Amino acid sequence: MTKPEALDHRLYWDARLETQSRAEWEALKLSLLQSHLTHAYGRSPYWRAAFDAAGVHPDRLNTLDDLRRFPFADKHVLRDRQVAVPPLGDLVAVPERDIVYISTSSGSTGVPTASPFTARDFDEWIDYEARQFWSSGMRPSDRYAHSLNLSLFIGGPCVLGAQKLGALTIHAGTLPSERLLQILRQFQASIIWTTPSYAWYLGETALQEGYDLQKDLAVRRIFVAGEPGGSIPQTRSRIEELWGASVYDYYGLSDIFGSCAGECEAKDGLHWAEDHIHVEVIDPDTGEPVREGERGELVLTTLRKAARPLIRFRTGDIVSVTTEPCACGRTALRMHGVHGRLDDMLIIKGVNLFPSDVEAVARQDRDLTGEYRLVVERIDHLDRITVEVERVRGFNGTDEDLGHRVSRRLKSVNGVSAEVRVLAPDTLPRATHKAKRVDDRRTGVWS
Ligand SMILES: [Zn+2]
Repeated sequence: MTKPEALDHRLYWDARLETQSRAEWEALKLSLLQSHLTHAYGRSPYWRAAFDAAGVHPDRLNTLDDLRRFPFADKHVLRDRQVAVPPLGDLVAVPERDIVYISTSSGSTGVPTASPFTARDFDEWIDYEARQFWSSGMRPSDRYAHSLNLSLFIGGPCVLGAQKLGALTIHAGTLPSERLLQILRQFQASIIWTTPSYAWYLGETALQEGYDLQKDLAVRRIFVAGEPGGSIPQTRSRIEELWGASVYDYYGLSDIFGSCAGECEAKDGLHWAEDHIHVEVIDPDTGEPVREGERGELVLTTLRKAARPLIRFRTGDIVSVTTEPCACGRTALRMHGVHGRLDDMLIIKGVNLFPSDVEAVARQDRDLTGEYRLVVERIDHLDRITVEVERVRGFNGTDEDLGHRVSRRLKSVNGVSAEVRVLAPDTLPRATHKAKRVDDRRTGVWS
């Protein structure tokens, strides 16, 4: 089969769907939701019991707002039900013979949970990934090096979306950096997908290895996911400068899809896959919806995934969304990045602080390398935060002045008083996957 190069100039993967009115989106979602809830209630013991306990029934869902009467679920539910009914849990709503693929969560905080797919779920996912890649400017003429972990990780099979789109795909996975750089040079890959920390690290490594990133390599687009950095302007622009490439932020969830939302070429927020996922943003304390544009916790409901429906799944991610028109012409809901995770939120003297707040400051100052770490300690029952940053090579001033400057900026931007420790270049650990930005030394303190 020849590649559909004649279609390279097409703006959309599926123009009718992607540019339909908001009213059409709402009608489509309502109809999908009604049948999905009926499927969940009829086929999954867990969902039947949960709906009955909450006194709700799929037949009585007449508007999207009616979903608010349905109960929440979260990571603990997934883990508990998987332990209670091994190996996949009783949220599953199809016989095991219909399941063809599972990915798992990283398991860094306990038992890994499995995300199952039927053959149709898998095909629909891959078609969506192709649509998402197209919106980020990928075309059949591209050479795409997929540099996410391929084993058990939900981001792995997303490479098949690029293949479906017609790009030349390289299933690179998590190769050692020197090898990956060789591959990028040898095949002149035009697009890669990694985490923001790794994009940074890989670029720095390339420079140290003597590469000229613009002349020796052909990477012009970098897709990133897994950390907030792709939507922090200061981080994004420094990765873009380093590579001479354009950065596109993606959001995925191991329990649903490798990418559930991603940036179009207008790069003004991540468009959601609203024909697969219904998005709510709630106040994490009250469970009530926040107004459009306000920050709250992201809550997701699948609309088609037959193997394991997820209803009102609390992600713990803090986001804001908008239905305002996008310059690209797509009408799907947009999210302005993930501001942080509830789990990572630090409360320092009554002020909420996310690592991404510090990142914005650390990456703005050209006398800093951009690497940073937050050390949180409890001294005399008070939480104290120290921000560690690194000066760049060849910095002429004093560490003391530089530290004060960063401290003042943190105070004016975030309202947080923090001690700033300036370190020599290359002191902080470099991330090869997801960066650990918080060193919380309060853990285990008995108080
Ligand atoms: Zn757009």
